[in-house]
Amino acid sequence: MPTAHPETIAEGILCIDTGLYRPGLAACYLVRSADRLAFVDTGTEHSVPALLALIERLGLSPEHVDYVIPTHVHLDHAGGAGALMAACPNARLVVHPKGAPHLIDPARLIAGASAVYGAEAFKRDFGGLQPIAAERVILAEDGQSFDLAGRRLTFIDTPGHANHHGCILDSLTGGLFSGDTFGISYREFDTDAGPWLYAPTTPVAFDPDLWLASLDKLMALKPSAVYLTHYGRLDAPERHVERLRQSIRDLAALALVEEGRDDGARGARLRAAVGAHLAASARAHGVEYDEARLGELLAVDTELNAQGLEVWLKRREKAATA
Ligand SMILES: [Zn+2]
Repeated sequence: MPTAHPETIAEGILCIDTGLYRPGLAACYLVRSADRLAFVDTGTEHSVPALLALIERLGLSPEHVDYVIPTHVHLDHAGGAGALMAACPNARLVVHPKGAPHLIDPARLIAGASAVYGAEAFKRDFGGLQPIAAERVILAEDGQSFDLAGRRLTFIDTPGHANHHGCILDSLTGGLFSGDTFGISYREFDTDAGPWLYAPTTPVAFDPDLWLASLDKLMALKPSAVYLTHYGRLDAPERHVERLRQSIRDLAALALVEEGRDDGARGARLRAAVGAHLAASARAHGVEYDEARLGELLAVDTELNAQGLEVWLKRREKAATA
């Protein structure tokens, strides 16, 4: 269940801890304009009761929710979308066309997540997934704007972390809800050097070239801030974007060392290489946790990044032999 108290991070924007794994790991956002509401990302099914309680605390009801907008259909972002849509009768789901089929019929998402996390951990950490009626789903086009009582939320197609990823530009604050496209930056890793960022190369559609192009596209919008799912608000994104670009290039490069070497132990070697790379990068940034704590904070992302890089290599190898 969500733990931390929701925090107002910009005008009419609440950042809500969705309660996945540990405080400060995953957020979702509630955007308000007059008495209309929109969620950007939803957390997991376990997060939804707290989201509904929050609406009540604001003196509003689920009828006031106009949009539920998962940035992409990975379960830390969209797992709760079905349950939330079921509770909010006027809401439309706004989602990337490539992600929509998986939220309308979540069978493949459930199977995929069970493969990545293990069936038991998937059930424990994510709950389940409820289907969403197709007629409530809007297939968002690149550049399409959605009106929230005069506030415009604009969908920007940003493949790279996933091929079904979009970011949302907010007209009122000029900020960008970035999902995972602006990387991961946990506040635990802030040092005198500022925030530390790295790329989540999560399965199954990591594509470094598309991702770098998506970052160029986002920076051309000159966002005033980015609102990260992992985690919170980051000001002056132009100061941090190069660090993220470097992380994308570094992770792709350490994977390419393993291209064509699929000998059964490759997954373990990638995991070790990703773990060592992230730890060294954190140290270079001035992060001072002891080895054990650092490993603990990076464990989930190390595993997901290694898996995602191996899937990427397999896709490249298959394309090369096709
Ligand atoms: Zn994520």
